[in-house]
Amino acid sequence: MKLYNTLSRSIEDFKPIDENLVKMYTCGPTVYNYAHLGNLRMYIHEDVLEKTLRYIGYPVKRVMNITDVGHLESDADDGEDKMLKGAKRENKTVWEIAQHYTDAFFTDIEKLNIKKADVVAKATDYIDKYIEFIKGLEKKGFTYMANGNVYFDITKVENYTKLSGMDLDQLRTASREDVDVDVHKKNPQDFVLWFTKSKFENQAMKWDSPWGVGYPGWHIECSVISLVNLGEQMDIHCGGVDHIPVHHTNEIAQTESYTGKEWVKYWWHGEFLIDNDGKMSKSSGEFLTLSLIEKKGFNPLSYRYFVLNSHYRKQLAFSFDSLASAENAYTKLKSRVKAILENADNKEANEQAAERYKEEFKKCLEDDLNTANAITVLFDMLKTDDLNNSQKLDIVADFEKVLSLDLLKEEEIEIHDELAEYIEQMIQKRQDAKKNKDYQLADSIRAELLEKGIVLEDTRQGVNWKKIN
Ligand code: AMP
Ligand code: ZN
Repeated sequence: MKLYNTLSRSIEDFKPIDENLVKMYTCGPTVYNYAHLGNLRMYIHEDVLEKTLRYIGYPVKRVMNITDVGHLESDADDGEDKMLKGAKRENKTVWEIAQHYTDAFFTDIEKLNIKKADVVAKATDYIDKYIEFIKGLEKKGFTYMANGNVYFDITKVENYTKLSGMDLDQLRTASREDVDVDVHKKNPQDFVLWFTKSKFENQAMKWDSPWGVGYPGWHIECSVISLVNLGEQMDIHCGGVDHIPVHHTNEIAQTESYTGKEWVKYWWHGEFLIDNDGKMSKSSGEFLTLSLIEKKGFNPLSYRYFVLNSHYRKQLAFSFDSLASAENAYTKLKSRVKAILENADNKEANEQAAERYKEEFKKCLEDDLNTANAITVLFDMLKTDDLNNSQKLDIVADFEKVLSLDLLKEEEIEIHDELAEYIEQMIQKRQDAKKNKDYQLADSIRAELLEKGIVLEDTRQGVNWKKIN
């Protein structure tokens, strides 16, 4: 598989460190608000990456953190605390906010058929490990104390900016946001490992530490959670492009300083979903969520389809018009599959043709995850005369391992089967009642089924039923 690596700024052949287990880490949500469609775009592409790896035969272990502490408004540790901001906004405790938005996040990703990571780790569950990690960095001389906080000194690292390829001045401009800047840092890029002197008086999440009661900085969680769950080296670390200059750069600096080893082989970054105003953001008040598009009558999977038709390294502009076109195309795709599902044919199977389509599909994904082309292969496959319908359905099921668009609507078929079984049982019960001349019971069964939209027809060959409306 070919994959773009931010670290080398080129497309590379993907070769895992150990073929027996691909280790993958994805930066998770900060749970102070609902995920917006931009965040969800990222998780869809990451889901495709993981499923593609599995599709081509690699076992995968994926770890994701849930940021419920330490993330300030600016990724460079300035500004307000995001969790506190959420708590103030809603008049709740930070713990309640974290729980509510974590649940909401998992509801959203389930609706989008995004597989949950193998390990989901809440940042607040790893406090002891952060303390151990900071002590290690301290011992090696990478840290300093200022105004009660423990900072990481970026000048102690060789090639601090290797991921972004920027120089420090460029980096400063890239990460500058409209927030108060911490004057206690020796260098503007230094970042906090442990806060003891919070500027937020009502900071609710606090733990004891060798440096005083406080809480961890944001970047540390991804380093430590991955070290604990994936070991000292991993294959792929994912996140949005916004994380290249600060968050991931800091993750690399501290992790590699701690272990003395190269940490991540491939850095994978997804581009932004943008709206009319440019960057989509949660802090600007109104923002686009999955429930908003549902309220407007869209199927969440139309959004997945919309995203799959874009390339993860290109910006994608969101509008309700383009979502409507995607829903249109997605509905057509589903009805095409449904028509095949309902029409068995007795054409001879053509194994070679089937293999050809599967190969084509795989090739698109192996080409730096070209999902849009993979979907074109799906459409071509559904149209072709070279395959019989049962082969087509097998191939749809195969492609669905990655696309996850509910094209075979298995749930509905299952419900349908259950319903059919129930109807057959009721018919039998009615026949028994009739045999026992209990016509009242027989009639009540007929009425009960009718209420569910099922009409019974007594024929000489037995009882038939059909669904009305
Ligand atoms: P957050 O919850 O803000 O930490 O973001 C979660 C993920 O969404 C990160 O990987 C971000 O890089 C990514 N992200 C944030 N905004 C956007 C956007 N507009 N489009 C795509 N991804 C985004
Ligand atoms: Zn992270």
